[in-house]
Amino acid sequence: MRVGILSDIHGNLEALECVLSACDERDLDEIYCLGDVVGYGADPGACLDLIRARGTVVCAGNHDWAASGLIDTEDFNRMAADAIAWTREQIDADQRHFLRALPTETRDGDVLFVHGSPHEPDAFHYIFTASEAASAIGATDARFVFVGHSHRAFAFSEDDGETVAIEGRHHVKDHERILVNVGSVGQPRDGDPRAAFCVWDRATNEIELCRVPYDVNVTQKKILDEGLPAFLAQRLSDGR
Ligand code: ZN
Repeated sequence: MRVGILSDIHGNLEALECVLSACDERDLDEIYCLGDVVGYGADPGACLDLIRARGTVVCAGNHDWAASGLIDTEDFNRMAADAIAWTREQIDADQRHFLRALPTETRDGDVLFVHGSPHEPDAFHYIFTASEAASAIGATDARFVFVGHSHRAFAFSEDDGETVAIEGRHHVKDHERILVNVGSVGQPRDGDPRAAFCVWDRATNEIELCRVPYDVNVTQKKILDEGLPAFLAQRLSDGR
């Protein structure tokens, strides 16, 4: 079975539609989502409906929790908090209940899906460096760990206790453990503005980090038209 793993869509419908099309072109069997479907972008409701329809595994992110009222926005920066206040007005009761019911982590045999980190999933810790990846892998006995949250696509392999960054398409060997950040569909921050997602072949254990372009101008115009902070539009073309 081949699956597409998505994260951090953030209400960006144009990016989500392009990623789902790319998954369909590759004839993937299922779509998993690691959270933050909403927040920042101008189409939270439409993105939620698509993920509800297509996602067979869906985890909650911190923006999902904030938009549904499960947490406040005290730890959010001003722009993120403003966007959450706006998002709360856009989603209906049914969508809010869907978000509130999502788990922050899902375990499937030797695989863990979590928005932030295996260490205290509900605290949404960030993983950026090899040493952070090493301690995150150390917090679980899962062999495959898929995360989002940092909006940067990367993968770390733990082999003989050593954690190293890996590039491109990767075949996970029997003795190896891996932590993959699938990157962000709707607001990449790794310098590449194209939408990110991951393809995982569960039969061969091949992992591929993928990028697809989408019409950033359309998304930016919607954000500005809704009166959301202008930087939230600007950053999309910069990938930061
Ligand atoms: Zn996010």
